[in-house]
Amino acid sequence: MSDEKFDIPEELASATLPTLLTAESTIRFRCHKGISCFNDCCRAADITLAPYDVLRLQRRLGMNSEQFLKNHTVPFQLERDGVPGIKLRTDNEGACLFLDPEKGCTVYEDRPTVCRYYPVGLLAMRRKDSSVAEQQYSLVVEEHCKGHEEDRELTVAEYRKEQGVEEYDEFNREWYELILKKRSGGPGVGKPNEMSLQLFFMASFNFDMFRKFVLSDNFKRTYDLPQQTYDELEQNDEALIKFGYRFMRQVLFAEMTIPEQKDAWDRRVQERKAVWQARAEAEIARRNAEMEKAMREETLGEECNTDSCGDRD
Ligand code: SF4
Ligand code: SF4
Repeated sequence: MSDEKFDIPEELASATLPTLLTAESTIRFRCHKGISCFNDCCRAADITLAPYDVLRLQRRLGMNSEQFLKNHTVPFQLERDGVPGIKLRTDNEGACLFLDPEKGCTVYEDRPTVCRYYPVGLLAMRRKDSSVAEQQYSLVVEEHCKGHEEDRELTVAEYRKEQGVEEYDEFNREWYELILKKRSGGPGVGKPNEMSLQLFFMASFNFDMFRKFVLSDNFKRTYDLPQQTYDELEQNDEALIKFGYRFMRQVLFAEMTIPEQKDAWDRRVQERKAVWQARAEAEIARRNAEMEKAMREETLGEECNTDSCGDRD
């Protein structure tokens, strides 16, 4: 283990590496309502959200994606090339908006992955010679958290089961792999353009808008998918999000994960040709206007730069 090399998320690369835990590692921890620090962790909440977190919370709150994103999240940069992420919005003091001082978490059954894991940290890693992400864990020990002093030992695997993270990890796995691939892909992967970043955000978090996008005529003219797939994407949120992972591979890494219509490339070339032609014509018109102005100034004098000057004797 010690001489194996990993590509790790960049925020860990420069810091002291935490002790890595596996699913079989034992931790000592217990969190419960009667503990003296109850809710302290939620009063300084820094919760990054993954797609399944958003789906569970927006369903729980009966909101559409737009409403949820607007009311309950703030944007941040997930990765150095500007890949966009979101965090849970807090109040001005940093407390989670879902925290009730008396009752605790008001969305407990649908709380995000990060909340479920705490104080265990999830580290998605990839060996240098592998394309598959592996899960490792770390233990976060913060002074305010008294759960580490409780008399209970359990393995990370048991803790994950107890906290219900398996379902979340299973659903988000492909998305974590996308981020990891982007981070550790090196210069060959390249910096995504603005349009790719917007598509990434939409497919990751704004599911209603993504649904409209994939059901649009334009999308259907470009991609070659059976009607049955479109029906499923229309009705099933989980299928839509997983389809989004496929789509993001295409957008970020140019992997042909979704078959294109046979004439899609030709049509795109034609459309681009039309755009280039329009741009070239606009550029020629601009230069002609400049040239005309320069000629007028040359023949009528520099002080004359309005159309009416042409009328003087
Ligand atoms: S979602 Fe719940 S558990 Fe997570 S920070 Fe907010 S109140 Fe705490
Ligand atoms: S024991 Fe830790 S996780 Fe539980 S309420 Fe206290 S600070 Fe939060």
